[in-house]
Amino acid sequence: MNAASLAERSRQAVWHPCTQMKVHEQWPPRAIVRAEGPWLVDEHGHRILDAVSSWWVNLFGHNFAPIREAITDQLGQVDHIMLAGLTHPPVVALSERLAALTGLGHAFYASDGASATEIALKMSAHSWRNLGRPEKHQFIGLQGGYHGETAGALSVTDIPLFREAYAPLLRLSATLPSPDPRQAEPGVSPEVHLASAIEALRTYLVAHHERTAALILEPLVQGAAGMAMYDPAYLVAVRRLCDEFGVHWIADEIAVGFARTGTMFAHQQALDPDGIAVKPDFICLSKGITGGVLPLSAVLTTDAVYAAFYDDRTAHGFLHSHSYTGNPLACRAALAVLDTFAARDEQGRDVLVRNREAAARFTRLTQPLSQHPRVKAARHLGMIWAWDIDVTEPTFAARYHRAAMDAGLLLRPIGSTLYVMPPYVLSDADQVFLAEGLLSVLNAVLAEVDALPSSQVAVLPVP
Ligand SMILES: *Cc1c(COP(=O)(O)O)cnc(C)c1O
Repeated sequence: MNAASLAERSRQAVWHPCTQMKVHEQWPPRAIVRAEGPWLVDEHGHRILDAVSSWWVNLFGHNFAPIREAITDQLGQVDHIMLAGLTHPPVVALSERLAALTGLGHAFYASDGASATEIALKMSAHSWRNLGRPEKHQFIGLQGGYHGETAGALSVTDIPLFREAYAPLLRLSATLPSPDPRQAEPGVSPEVHLASAIEALRTYLVAHHERTAALILEPLVQGAAGMAMYDPAYLVAVRRLCDEFGVHWIADEIAVGFARTGTMFAHQQALDPDGIAVKPDFICLSKGITGGVLPLSAVLTTDAVYAAFYDDRTAHGFLHSHSYTGNPLACRAALAVLDTFAARDEQGRDVLVRNREAAARFTRLTQPLSQHPRVKAARHLGMIWAWDIDVTEPTFAARYHRAAMDAGLLLRPIGSTLYVMPPYVLSDADQVFLAEGLLSVLNAVLAEVDALPSSQVAVLPVP
């Protein structure tokens, strides 16, 4: 037996992600020893509601039987094999089903979101090169966009805190205005702001399309920017402009895919003038793809992009690889997720319908929060809720996180934006607990920061 606590041993042995480790001197990491449904249980038996789906990955709660059983069954068949020169039933079935759901095929696999971004960027530029257009190798991202933290993904990510230290390592992309209506200049309506974001894209493409391979964006919700939600009309314009100027559109659905925004994929809410959902040239998927149980990501693309690689010359192939590409266990978890979406309950409702009902209820329960005098912008889409709090104290997010944890809630505000991104399985009682906790923790933390003498204000990193 090691006498030190799990938290202390973790502090010594584990380098935690997205963390200034010194913070853990004062606030050690919480050791979770069990997870069931939306609930986590720590080593002291305290229950914590996972209101952010463990960083946006968990769809159906922890220890969800269909996923557990699928993985267990697969373990006895094929655990893992390389996917170069070999294939296996789960990866074939998953690829067919993702193609049927999106209209894009040729699924290429990796293990995390950032790798999916890398793959989409490399595929786009390489396809132009194969087509005799090697000068098309630049990328466009949006203001506040987040696409992961490996060097290529970071180069299209516009979160200064994550990017600044590595700036000399990156080949930065162009960053164009976000359609997020909160970015509008004072007195500018959301419609005019949207039109000007579209105009900025057109202006950029007129000047630079010959060197541009692709535009990458998060459809409908820019998560890491603080759940910035924008009008699907922007995506219709993106499709039209990318077609007009011969530039690929990469839809990063890593966070918003798998029903998070109310449709199976977020871009499917963008309808062209004929009422048909627009289709990107690439779709990046990860996070919810396995229900948050195993690491897996996929990039889907068009027949045209695929055809640009299909050749007798080896060097024209997409020679990218990861050791765990198409891991059978992860593919089985993903198939169990798709089966869950395809199933209906006794009342004939599928997950999307049940989510709509649950969302309407939770939106009602959070009315007092949305109408709180210190809430500047309350917004909701599908299974995402966000509230911008009128607070300037830089330690607000860290204080809220810690106070929420003590109240039995896992919540991590982004700056002054409080948000909820729950698993799709909250009971009515869980919803009430979450809605009441959100508000009471807010009041407690506001009272705490309002009482701070301004001279004491110090920037504490987010835990
Ligand atoms: C989380 C996320 C990524 C990166 O995925 P990782 O698995 O964390 O590498 C990329 N894009 C978006 C939109 C994300 O939310």
